[in-house]
Amino acid sequence: MKEPKRRFATEAVHAGQEPDPATGAIMTPVYLTSTYVQQGPGQHKGFDYARTVHPTRLALERNLAALEGGRFGLCFSSGMAATSTLIQALESGDHVVAGNDLYGGTYRVFTKVFQRFGLGFSFVDSTDVKSVERALTPKTRLIWIETPSNPMLRITDIRRTAELAHSKGIKLAIDNTFASPALQTPLALGADFVVHSTTKYLGGHSDVVGGCIVTNDEEWHQKLKFLQNAVGAVPGPLDCFLVLRGTKTLPLRMSKHCQNAMAVAEHLLKHPEIAKVHYPGLTQHPGHALARTQMCGFGGMISFELKGDLERAKRMISGTKVFSLAESLGGVESLIGHPASMTHGSIPREERIKYGLVDGLIRLSVGIEDVQDLVEDLDQAIAQSRA
Ligand SMILES: *Cc1c(COP(=O)(O)O)cnc(C)c1O
Repeated sequence: MKEPKRRFATEAVHAGQEPDPATGAIMTPVYLTSTYVQQGPGQHKGFDYARTVHPTRLALERNLAALEGGRFGLCFSSGMAATSTLIQALESGDHVVAGNDLYGGTYRVFTKVFQRFGLGFSFVDSTDVKSVERALTPKTRLIWIETPSNPMLRITDIRRTAELAHSKGIKLAIDNTFASPALQTPLALGADFVVHSTTKYLGGHSDVVGGCIVTNDEEWHQKLKFLQNAVGAVPGPLDCFLVLRGTKTLPLRMSKHCQNAMAVAEHLLKHPEIAKVHYPGLTQHPGHALARTQMCGFGGMISFELKGDLERAKRMISGTKVFSLAESLGGVESLIGHPASMTHGSIPREERIKYGLVDGLIRLSVGIEDVQDLVEDLDQAIAQSRA
């Protein structure tokens, strides 16, 4: 009998996880093993070597695939390992069109590593589908988009970009790290691949680094699975367990992140010493209407510009007490950062200023603490940063 389709929060807790067949343990065991005993050469229970296949990883891969509404999931040792493995499926000479407001490490691996192997990359404003179209060449095989983007929180139309890609026989990959599948499921909107840094919202507790790729395309899944094993950037069993524990509370956490971020964004918008606030939940945000059509919440990330010079911005981010000054995002605790010198330091200054990532931009990962404490903390840091 076919199981009825379960809803998101139920899948978050249960998908991919069965009680342990040996003991009935309700939590997926952390199988700390690199190999498995065979009855005879090649005779085994589907597990031969832990780089190739691993039971804790398999549970996580099934869980993440279910959350993204995909048939196949593959896990990696980091978000960058997931990204790199997808690019390794291309051939030398192939071309990729990517959004210009990207995670700094993605830009770095494209331009500093894969370009050396004969792959071509063009970076365009992907919020404008026409500029994506203009950048396509007969060699373009893949379009790579982050939405909401990092750190400008721009919104790209996934449906229209997928239509454009497919009309030319090109694949579309979405880095869904900022939204998480609780807020946006790109495969349902036509994307071919979803990539995540599970380090962020999926893990959710800033205690693990990981990545994944989810797809519905069986042929590509086989290609990527081959690379996962051949290249070998696989996560360890405890890492998989931690992400699996994280996804159980993803819907709860995301709803609080969204609620708190909305309140913080509205507060900053009214603040006389803030010049600009970027948050897709604000009706003033240029991508707000589009976000409403492809997301079911606006997420926990905000960026803003404080009035005054770079030195003032630096004083402000060093003066918060609840927000910690740190790289990364998506954990239960609130973080504050300076993209130009931290996460996006690897993007040339002229490049980033062209798309709005100015020196004074400040990024917040709004956590799930009491929102009043968050607002008061930002207010006192802004006040003490005055010259
Ligand atoms: C962090 C991040 C990555 C890279 O992931 P790691 O797990 O740090 O390797 C990729 N994309 C986005 C949007 C990220 O925030």
